[in-house]
Amino acid sequence: MTYVVGFPRIGEQRELKRALEAYWAGNSSQEELQKTASDLRKRHWVYQKNANIDLISINDFSFYDNMIDAMVMLNATPAKYDDIDNCMDKYFAMARGDDNHKAMEMTKWFNTNYHYIVPELDENMDFKATITKIKAEYKEAKELGISPKVNFIGLITFVKLSKIVNGSEDKIIEKLIPVYVDLINQLKELDNNITIQFDESYFVTNPTSKDLETLKKVYDELTKAHDNIFVATYFEHSNEANEVLAKTNIKGMFLDFVAGSENSIKPLVEAGKKVGIGIVNGRNVWVNDIEESVKFLKGIAEVANSEDILVGSSCSLLHVPFTLKYEEKMDSDIKSWLSYAVEKLNEIKIIDKLFRGVELDAEEKADLVANQEAIATRKTSTKIHNQVVKDRVSNLTQEDEHRNMPFEERIKLQHENLKYPILPTTTIGSFPQTPEVRKLRRDYKNGVISVDEYEAQIKKWIDELVELQEKLDIDVLVHGEFERNDMVEYFGEQLEGVAFSQNGWVQSYGSRCVKPPLIFGDVSRPKDMTVKWITYAQSKTNRPMKGMLTGPVTMLNWSFVRDDQSRSATGYQMALAIRDEVNALEAAGIKVIQVDEAALREGYPLRNDKKAEYEDWAIRGFRITTSGVKPETQIHTHMCYSEFSDIMDAIEAMDADVISIENARSDNSLLEIFKQRGYKGEIGPGIYDIHSPRIPSVEELVEQIQALMKVLPVEKLWVNPDCGLKTRKWAETTPSLENMVKATKIVREQLK
Ligand code: GLN
Ligand code: ZN
Repeated sequence: MTYVVGFPRIGEQRELKRALEAYWAGNSSQEELQKTASDLRKRHWVYQKNANIDLISINDFSFYDNMIDAMVMLNATPAKYDDIDNCMDKYFAMARGDDNHKAMEMTKWFNTNYHYIVPELDENMDFKATITKIKAEYKEAKELGISPKVNFIGLITFVKLSKIVNGSEDKIIEKLIPVYVDLINQLKELDNNITIQFDESYFVTNPTSKDLETLKKVYDELTKAHDNIFVATYFEHSNEANEVLAKTNIKGMFLDFVAGSENSIKPLVEAGKKVGIGIVNGRNVWVNDIEESVKFLKGIAEVANSEDILVGSSCSLLHVPFTLKYEEKMDSDIKSWLSYAVEKLNEIKIIDKLFRGVELDAEEKADLVANQEAIATRKTSTKIHNQVVKDRVSNLTQEDEHRNMPFEERIKLQHENLKYPILPTTTIGSFPQTPEVRKLRRDYKNGVISVDEYEAQIKKWIDELVELQEKLDIDVLVHGEFERNDMVEYFGEQLEGVAFSQNGWVQSYGSRCVKPPLIFGDVSRPKDMTVKWITYAQSKTNRPMKGMLTGPVTMLNWSFVRDDQSRSATGYQMALAIRDEVNALEAAGIKVIQVDEAALREGYPLRNDKKAEYEDWAIRGFRITTSGVKPETQIHTHMCYSEFSDIMDAIEAMDADVISIENARSDNSLLEIFKQRGYKGEIGPGIYDIHSPRIPSVEELVEQIQALMKVLPVEKLWVNPDCGLKTRKWAETTPSLENMVKATKIVREQLK
């Protein structure tokens, strides 16, 4: 038996994105949108059917997100949207806001780059199951001759990932049990034997014993209603839950054997449960080593009945691109090492057949040969392996990860060198990416304009920005990042060992997709990446110009990273490549260099016991990147979040001279931790929120700076916005910064 946990829905050419955006823009009707959706579902099921997948999902489709879908189906929508009559309008108002309603909050789905809508639960809600959406999909699947499995978010994970706005979690769980039972009963009316998959990935985090008691209780109740329930967990092992669920009447579990290779199936096997071995990676794009997978499964078959073993994807294939079919320009070797969702279906099928001793047909045989060739060439290809890079990593010493002077001493040199005033002002890097900026880059990329025309225009914008910052009287300047499309892509494009796909889109949220770089080989930096622009900008001013780079952890976290060596090995290679750029900037006369680690926090492992291992390489990576400079060169870092209490050791160990952080919460409570710890570095807590178009007034900014001074020593404080300004308009940016500098000067006066 084969299964997939779920399938991407955006469409192989992002058809759903286009349909949604046309609908939102008022250019198409609800019927047209529904028609596209239904066509896509069918196409996706046919792909799975053709690959002999036995358990094909329904309800993995969504117009926006499955959590919001569940919220609707459970009648758990916040009352503030009740004035909207039309269901579809209401749905999109919750997902993305409308003229009269704010959108609901969105957050990252576990440690992925997919964002879900966070339900707001109230214990007084009138929960009720309505399965109209599922019924319609069921009917469509049936028409294609498919007896589908129904995906639905598990009760506990649904509640745990929601925000409780009123009442208690226990009460809500209690109230939802009969609603889930009713949901199951309604599903059974479609088919008395229907397979139901409840996703309970909350249990891969760090469940408490109370959580596990609740798990037992909930599934004891739900399995009274039905005997064909599977529980899926992914992104880690769920050993505690495996043990508990083995004692309930679930039919089986789907487990992640890629990210959760520690998963123990023993309790499940002993209890006669089915076990889904998720061995084809739903989070990464590299070919599966089919023969290794078969070997692994045969090992499992020594302790379990092979009829009880199902072969499938490690998690939903939502997190990988669709199909290699459209990769027409990619290097053929690199392409041979890749497998997207559709190709992964084929891998699952072949693995299952080989495992069960079923003869492959001619096409499958050829696929297997190609697969083993790809595995072999990955081991030796000179496109992947670069001995110079490997040697550099193995020759790294302690010295390479330490600045050669302690912070307290080097900061003095930096002050002499840079001569910035008390409460120095700066920005995080980017300035508005206007339609003209985007068009210029596009025209250059498409060969519509020449290099000279392109560079002349970028320089003109840099000139204007330098002039503006001087006029605003900002102390440490930036060049504005006009040449950058994206903080990871820009560097990825210039590094050896990193490739880009044409059509490798992955849904990030709603209709938005990202195309992560592919780190396929040993990483190195053949030439300067930013020096030209930064030194040009520096030549236009006497004030310090910040060099602006993306750090190694963020480069990895927002890419597909090769799986043929440890993540840390790739991380160190990336660190050395960026270190080369840091050193080149310094050699070119740049005195302040910022290395952004926007994704450090989200890269943390889901299991606490793996935290230390991650921190070890992540911090070393940052230190390797930034330790090659002279003491008087100032290293900044920037992080886009405001929750530091649990990662403070790591932040300190990074040993940056200045850290700028998000500080959206007005009570400055997050800074308490920096105070308590006596954080030694200088800190720029964002003094206004760049995610909003609002222009903060001088008065409120004065108050904000004064409030910061109550928490942190003034001689350590920097004044800056809380993130890059690329998403803002000029009409918001200039006055906001003007007010920021005015406010700073008022406070400086008060200090005299
Ligand atoms: N330097 C980047 C910018 O200003 C940082 C972006 C980020 O933190 N996400 O755009
Ligand atoms: Zn940021």
